[in-house]
Amino acid sequence: MAAAGATTSRRGPGGGGGAMDDENLTFETSAGVEVVTSFDAMGIRDDLLRGIYGYGFDKPSAIQQRAVLPIITGRDVIAQAQSGTGKTSMISLSVCQIVDTSVHEVQALILSPTRELATQTEKVMQAVGNYMSVNVHACVGGKSIGEDIRKLESGVQVVSGTPGRVCDMIKRRTLRTRAIKLLVLDEADEMLSRGFKDQIYDVYRYLPPELQVVLISATLPHDILEITSKFMTDPVRILVKRDELTLEGIKQFFVAVEKEEWKFDTLCDLYDTLTITQAVIFCNTKRKVDWLTERMRTNNFTVSAMHGDMPQKERDAIMNEFRGGSTRVLITTDVWARGLDVQQVSLVINYDLPNNRELYIHRIGRSGRFGRKGVAINFVRKDDIRILRDIEQYYSTQIDEMPMNVADLI
Ligand code: ADP
Ligand code: MG
Repeated sequence: MAAAGATTSRRGPGGGGGAMDDENLTFETSAGVEVVTSFDAMGIRDDLLRGIYGYGFDKPSAIQQRAVLPIITGRDVIAQAQSGTGKTSMISLSVCQIVDTSVHEVQALILSPTRELATQTEKVMQAVGNYMSVNVHACVGGKSIGEDIRKLESGVQVVSGTPGRVCDMIKRRTLRTRAIKLLVLDEADEMLSRGFKDQIYDVYRYLPPELQVVLISATLPHDILEITSKFMTDPVRILVKRDELTLEGIKQFFVAVEKEEWKFDTLCDLYDTLTITQAVIFCNTKRKVDWLTERMRTNNFTVSAMHGDMPQKERDAIMNEFRGGSTRVLITTDVWARGLDVQQVSLVINYDLPNNRELYIHRIGRSGRFGRKGVAINFVRKDDIRILRDIEQYYSTQIDEMPMNVADLI
């Protein structure tokens, strides 16, 4: 493969280690990772510090205390931490620190799996970078290409994008890559999984050889960690053990529904609980999202819905309403499973159980952001119990039957 060839030659022979080495890798957290307990002590530029404090971050979170320093000193980093603990925010502030604001070329590229997440990261960067003149652009599908071109030609320094549009812009030579020194893959396991991998390599081929690579995710399965040696150099690893991945603050329950048809009535019974703050309901298909939304509305419940077949304008409008709190119940697909941060979400419903173990962690992590309380409720058909038990065992966590007073826990 041309792309794979390009990636190995970049690091030179022997850079990736042999197959034997790979088999013996255990991927523990690297020795000697320093813990820096204040933003002040990280050597961050003053105007950025002002932005960080101004945004309301007083103290770095555990992952920020460990990973910011290696990132801003130019190391390749693989950083894992539980959902909602400040990983994506960490990317935003680290990238601002790295950018040379006197150079009007793209210096950092952040890739995310969804347009909404790439845009969220753009916004956080603009917020923490408020007092420094850093020029950030979200380069995502579904938006005007003309607008992208105009923006990219105006001297953007950081691009936060989705792989398809970014690749398109690179191939048009509108997104110039020669000054890029940092590539970040947020939700890295998703970005390196089957659906995105080829597109990522396609982008990677165009990036300069002296590239710093940072991978971030709450979930980093072993097979993903194994392939990182192909494009990373002696990375600093900060990893979480599987049995520490679920958050204490998110209480997990199940409701046994016997058959599929019972799920709907169960959801209706829970409606008042859903609207205490804000709730996200996950279905496994777009069709099911449409169907459930329609049926809830027919029964006079107010709900909004979002999925990948909707026009981007509509997706944006629904996101804005939900972020603003004017809508409270969102029915959606796994387009919403990763990274999206709405602090008021305290309840997640798995109307359908997710199709893999990683998605479970990401979905329930839409609640309980940054130490807040959260509740996750799984609707479990008779033939789903096996899947739920598997999740419980895999993460050494406990999923109890939903109590009557569940509303009190929110
Ligand atoms: P993750 O990517 O790990 O899921 P995010 O970066 O999206 O987490 O952050 C989750 C929430 O925590 C966001 O609302 C963010 O603003 C907030 N947050 C992140 N870091 C800090 C901090 N150091 N202090 C206070 N709040 C923070
Ligand atoms: Mg994140």
